[in-house]
Amino acid sequence: MTPESAWKATLGELELQMTKATFNTWLRDTTLLSCEDDVFVIGVRNDYAKDWLENRLRDTILRTLSAITGEPTQLRFVVWSDEIIAEPVSVEKNGLAIKREPKVEKAAPMRNGQSVGAAISDKFSFSNFVVGPSNRLAHAAALSVAENPGRTYNPLFIYGGVGLGKTHLLNAIGLKCKQNGCTVTYISSETFTNDLIQSIRTKQMAEFRERYRTPDVLLIDDIQFIAGKESTQEELFHTFNELHSQGKQVVISSDRPPKAMATLEERLQSRFEWGLMADIQQPDVEMRKAILQSKAEEKHVSVPDFVLDKIASSVRNNIRELEGAFNKVAAYAQLNGGQVNETLVNMALGDLLHERSKLDVPQVIRSVCSHFNISEADMSGSSRKRKFAYPRQMAMYLCRTETDASLPEIGEKLGNRDHTTILYGYEKIAAMLDTDPDVRRDSLTIKSSLYETAVSPA
Ligand code: ADP
Ligand code: MG
Repeated sequence: MTPESAWKATLGELELQMTKATFNTWLRDTTLLSCEDDVFVIGVRNDYAKDWLENRLRDTILRTLSAITGEPTQLRFVVWSDEIIAEPVSVEKNGLAIKREPKVEKAAPMRNGQSVGAAISDKFSFSNFVVGPSNRLAHAAALSVAENPGRTYNPLFIYGGVGLGKTHLLNAIGLKCKQNGCTVTYISSETFTNDLIQSIRTKQMAEFRERYRTPDVLLIDDIQFIAGKESTQEELFHTFNELHSQGKQVVISSDRPPKAMATLEERLQSRFEWGLMADIQQPDVEMRKAILQSKAEEKHVSVPDFVLDKIASSVRNNIRELEGAFNKVAAYAQLNGGQVNETLVNMALGDLLHERSKLDVPQVIRSVCSHFNISEADMSGSSRKRKFAYPRQMAMYLCRTETDASLPEIGEKLGNRDHTTILYGYEKIAAMLDTDPDVRRDSLTIKSSLYETAVSPA
């Protein structure tokens, strides 16, 4: 097992053990940066997350990780962000191999040591961009611009909703242009604004202009954020004119067309409409499936067709979410020895699939009773013996996490208990899940039996 897959499996396991909120807040965005001498170096978003993980979750994570690698391991958390340049790390040890290519190229350095312009990532290229009816025009225009910068559509204005591939396309253009020897600057409009403010403050406008008016290709992502910012619009107007008059390519992305940006100066709006405006729409189900197939190939995991169909039909309007769902299934599959079956998909996609809301309190209670082999009368009874009290709390916990019922509703079905009792039971189990592998096993087994019997969506 590679350290990367060990970490992925650990995350999958932790996700099952912890409350959703804990997992999403502290672990979802972590990345394995390197692994050397059994030390897993984990990148986290900020200092706050680092403190939290070190002080509160370290033991749980370590225990889970060591159980998965089968050998003692150590953990180190470092603050790290995708946007910062990762140095290549390559370690080989006991058959554990991790090779991390530099994710991004270095951004252009700025005089005071900061960098301006996000880096172009080699992860988002034309070759891994799936083309379908919803993005055909935007793709064709992007490709044409990348092959002939400054000579076809200038500017190219790509617009569409969140997570539909705008940044991917801009990046792909940048990548191709660089390969062809052009100089490229890629920025978000927010970076442009911040850089402008900073340059005005430090009286370094000459350098600012040098930076934005010289590249062969300027890519500005998420232009909608310049709405209402007058000096940014003014500066952008001149930047645009300068580049355009020299035959340099400008590509802009936005979540809406120029006309729909209320506070965009008219002269900028008309500039943006000079070239070509191409929109990206939501993908249809065939295209969603094609995207999933390409992700599976990219990651070298084989996923049965029915699983792809299921994900494609459940996640409808955002490719980022589609990818997230796919990754989740892949991580669960790894935990399960590479086997992907219907139950596992239902579990992994629990909150995305329709049948989740079909799970109700009586179903959960029945599953818990049968798992612990106790009667429903004992479940709602008042005996405090551990034999009954623990299953009862497990039922409280699972009713809360797996159904849409409110605390009072759960209380009513569990022997007319007060909602504070349900909350107490829920929290008790949530805490035990962090520390007690037996509790984790019980919860996992009950969950899988629940989803096994749950109705499949059409
Ligand atoms: P936007 O900038 O429009 O919000 P992104 O470009 O960040 O969206 O895309 C979100 C995710 O979906 C990215 O991981 C991207 O690689 C992926 N994606 C979007 N469109 C496609 C596509 N047509 N083919 C493959 N992956 C895509
Ligand atoms: Mg984007």
